[in-house]
Amino acid sequence: MPNSSYVGSYDRRQHVNKSRAVLNSNKSFFARHSTVGDVVSTNHHSKDFIQTRNQYIVERLKLICLFFAITVPVSSLLDFIVFENVQAQLLLINRLILSCALIGLYQLIRRVSTVNMTRLVLALSFLFPVLFYTATELSLTQTMAYRNIPLSFTLTPYLIVAMLGLFPLTIAEGVALLSVISLPLAILEYIQYAGNYAAVIDKLWLFVLFGGISLWLQLGQMVMLMKLYRESTIDSLTGLINRRVLMRQVEDISKNSKRVQKSFSVMMCDLDFFKRVNDTYGHLVGDQVLVKVSSLLKHELRNPDVIARFGGEEFMVVMPHLELDQATHVGLRIADVIRKSSVMTDEQQEITFTASIGVTQYIAGEPIAQLFKRVDDLLYQAKEQGRDRVENTLALEPHKL
Ligand code: GH3
Ligand code: MG
Ligand code: MG
Repeated sequence: MPNSSYVGSYDRRQHVNKSRAVLNSNKSFFARHSTVGDVVSTNHHSKDFIQTRNQYIVERLKLICLFFAITVPVSSLLDFIVFENVQAQLLLINRLILSCALIGLYQLIRRVSTVNMTRLVLALSFLFPVLFYTATELSLTQTMAYRNIPLSFTLTPYLIVAMLGLFPLTIAEGVALLSVISLPLAILEYIQYAGNYAAVIDKLWLFVLFGGISLWLQLGQMVMLMKLYRESTIDSLTGLINRRVLMRQVEDISKNSKRVQKSFSVMMCDLDFFKRVNDTYGHLVGDQVLVKVSSLLKHELRNPDVIARFGGEEFMVVMPHLELDQATHVGLRIADVIRKSSVMTDEQQEITFTASIGVTQYIAGEPIAQLFKRVDDLLYQAKEQGRDRVENTLALEPHKL
């Protein structure tokens, strides 16, 4: 049986950081319900959600860039109807420049992978049309009065701001983007001010109004995406991530392990004779046991560890930077904690339960499927050898509890 010195420095650090770890662990599981913080900034978003949102933004941005790269020059046909020839020609040149810039941006977007790069290309995708508008309007007002410029052109900035509402952004990102794109417009207004104070206030007010609506739409997109993400990745009973997200995360962890030259370990945990719990006390009590085991795992493991509900009563844990011996100690401790815990039925009957555990370490370069097969075999061995025990790879002697 593991005694208290068994877990050594790992466990002591765990206790020192316990309150912080519990707080941070929400980050890796991604909160079950949105908090205000989740829509204010990305600070509390899980890495997986950040990547999912990134992909979503990039895909949308690619489509929008391509769409406008084509439609912006095509709109010149309209210019030749509503403008004089000379102005329509100027517009055509500017439109072609914008179209080329958007095609260049599309090529860049295809290579984007990080959050900051996504933010940069997003800002550029909106800044380019604003710069086009600013430069074109300055040129147009050289040859015609502002009030004669057709509405279809003067409303361009509002259209651009409204388009921002198509992206799931946090308040911080939305405000930053709106500020960036409003800067050239503010300069344009300053140049064209010419003492017409009321007209500037009027335009500013309309811009703020559109900006507010756009922010509202962005938040709506964000909340919707968070909801969909949560529903497709988080197990509703236990609040743990599901198998699909785990597979994505373990791929990332293995890539990172190669980069930092540190291995990692996995632990598979299956409750013993769980069918009997269901058959004897009912499914609701079975569910209570699953919730209890999940909360024990969350409580006992470190913040960087990834815990997933892998199947019905099977849990998988990935422990970055932990080698087999340390991971086996963790497995022994988990088995011990599960054995000592219990749930109460409505009839005040105390139910105890045990788990069998397999632990193994990642071998550099091996496919994840092979790693999971090995840990599954070890779990099977633990079952074969009597349950309520931990089996690890042969690098260490199997630990009998
Ligand atoms: P072993 O020790 O060999 O693992 O035996 P076992 O009874 O735990 O294994 P078995 O695979 O035969 O049964 C697993 C049971 O888990 C069957 C299924 O009804 C139950 N189960 C799976 N998901 C849930 C769930 O969400 N809630 C409840 N209450 N039970 C579940
Ligand atoms: Mg079982
Ligand atoms: Mg099972």
